[in-house]
Amino acid sequence: MSRVIFHKLQRLDEVLNKVLPLINVMPIETVDISNALSRVLAEDIHAPISLPPFDRSSVDGYAVRSSDIAMADEHRPVRLKVKGKISVGMRPYASVDKGEAIEVDTGSAIPPGADSVIMEEFTSKRNNELTCYRNTSAGENIFHAGTDVMIGDLVLTKGTRIGIKEITLLASLGINRIKVYKRPKVAIISTGKELITPGCNYEEFKVYDSNSYMIYAFLRELGCSVDLLGIIPDDYDRLKSLINNAVSSHDFVITSGGTSAGEEDIVYRVLSDIGEIIVHGLMARPGKPTVVALVKKKIIIGLPGHPVSAFMILNVLVRPIILKALGCTIYKTSSIKAKLSRKIPLRKGYLNVIPVALIRDNGSYIAYPTFKGSGLISSIIPSDGYIEVSGNREYISAGAEVEVKLFNNQLVLPDLTFIGSHCLVTDRLLNEMKREGFIIRSIYVGSLEGLKAVIRGEADISGIHLLDERTYEYNIPFIKMYGAEDSVVLIKGFKRIQGLVIRKGNPNSIKGLEDLILRPDVRFVNRNKGSGTRILLDIKLREICKKLNLDFNDVTRRLNGYLWEVFTHTAVASAIKHGKADVGMAIKYVATLMNLDFIPIATEEYDYVVPKRKLKRRPVQKFIKLLKTLKDRISLPGVQFHEDTGEVIEI
Ligand code: AMP
Ligand code: MG
Repeated sequence: MSRVIFHKLQRLDEVLNKVLPLINVMPIETVDISNALSRVLAEDIHAPISLPPFDRSSVDGYAVRSSDIAMADEHRPVRLKVKGKISVGMRPYASVDKGEAIEVDTGSAIPPGADSVIMEEFTSKRNNELTCYRNTSAGENIFHAGTDVMIGDLVLTKGTRIGIKEITLLASLGINRIKVYKRPKVAIISTGKELITPGCNYEEFKVYDSNSYMIYAFLRELGCSVDLLGIIPDDYDRLKSLINNAVSSHDFVITSGGTSAGEEDIVYRVLSDIGEIIVHGLMARPGKPTVVALVKKKIIIGLPGHPVSAFMILNVLVRPIILKALGCTIYKTSSIKAKLSRKIPLRKGYLNVIPVALIRDNGSYIAYPTFKGSGLISSIIPSDGYIEVSGNREYISAGAEVEVKLFNNQLVLPDLTFIGSHCLVTDRLLNEMKREGFIIRSIYVGSLEGLKAVIRGEADISGIHLLDERTYEYNIPFIKMYGAEDSVVLIKGFKRIQGLVIRKGNPNSIKGLEDLILRPDVRFVNRNKGSGTRILLDIKLREICKKLNLDFNDVTRRLNGYLWEVFTHTAVASAIKHGKADVGMAIKYVATLMNLDFIPIATEEYDYVVPKRKLKRRPVQKFIKLLKTLKDRISLPGVQFHEDTGEVIEI
């Protein structure tokens, strides 16, 4: 076999055009319908009988000839002679002749001669004499044979995924065994010497292997039979022999990690030595380091190690390949048209695969991008699907109509969407709502993005703490700055103490913010731009710069760790806990929770903002109610409630 190595990145459609023709549909097996759920049908099913199989009564009553009782009403009832009874499952042993009736139950066969059934309620019976107080029309209360399905109808086609409805139909037709495609057998291997198996004790600087389980669940949902072969540290020989073994006993092998061009990235090297590389490098973002190879006529897919990249490539590349092998005729997942909430920068020339959360808005949908980075699973946890954008554009604009491809076919939309600043008090409230049965989605993007999401009407609630440098007032100046005084209301929150989080005992002898500026030995961890904490930090740093007559830009350029941004208070605290940084800015609550020391810097106002038109929604009202009672229920370090916490404030 000739070896083709592509040094050039390839487009997803080019890759699929090369790979799909190499995929054979799986062989066929016969299964019982009780084991057929989610299997793919390998035969056309024609109805062997009609449904209903015979004319049958839909009520309890009497089979009659409608012409006999055409003139019947309350005042002039018509009398008929009852000839007998046909109960369910019984062959009609007599016919209904003129002036006659035969008693029937729901589901009884209709005897010849009768053309309708009069309900028992409209009759009375003495001995064998039936009095009818109503007429019937021909066909009344009869299910005619073949109304559901006519014998010989093509009811299910080859390639259909068997669901609950299909199983019901098959059973109704008396079919208990069907031909389905065998499940493709897939082997999963994770590579990376930093990986440890979930369930083991955490070891510092190691990473739990999430990809194996993500890929496993993804393939099981599609209908594959999957074997987890475990973790291979970046070891060429072991990976080579494992893949060689796996291809002889599996239809596909999927690896993750080790696909880049680095020294330890062995997947490409192994695959190019034992097989034929079809692709190394996909013009997709995320997901560029993807490898597809053919080894002993089996397709091996090497996914990138970053979980978000791996997940996106599972959706855009692995799904169509597996569905072809499964014999599915429908390769697509459901999609929903939506309007993009905000502008997103694109990687020019690449297929940009962007996870989004769907928000229902006045009968249409808004797609809210959740991507934060390929290594951060919070990019995908709150998302419902993804959009694909390619072409030579630098960005896609806010408001653009996009097609959201759903990760699976069950879209469960939240009752309440929170977009805003991360706060442990908010977390608590949202968890209380979950316990009350609400479906909650929280997307932590910082105060500024949260406020914008409320102003655009996407979030039901945001939590913000935005300090205005000029007036030294919190939150309201920002609402005014965006001209949203009339469209949103403020729900009074609480005060939070912000400050520097440091390790227990203050080993670096940090006294205050000046140390960040003056001491290069102190390693800092920053918060993301647009977060309230970041805005506060920058204001405080500017004040110190002014006092010391230093240039802010100069100072931040030199500040050790200023460019390292994390998204939550918890992330700041854990960076310090684990010695990755010496100091960071966060709320006192989180420092106390994680047993760290704390130097207070400012007391800030954390408030909630709600679009006026969503204020009356039940989940929003519930949130406000829980917030109002919170101060009587708990006390949290560094959190001070107001007299009017939970009050709605018009601006
Ligand atoms: P790699 O593609 O091997 O360079 O890995 C890229 C990043 O993904 C690294 O931070 C890895 O630690 C991480 N990673 C690789 N494999 C896994 C895995 N199975 N589960 C979770 N993270 C992983
Ligand atoms: Mg690796």
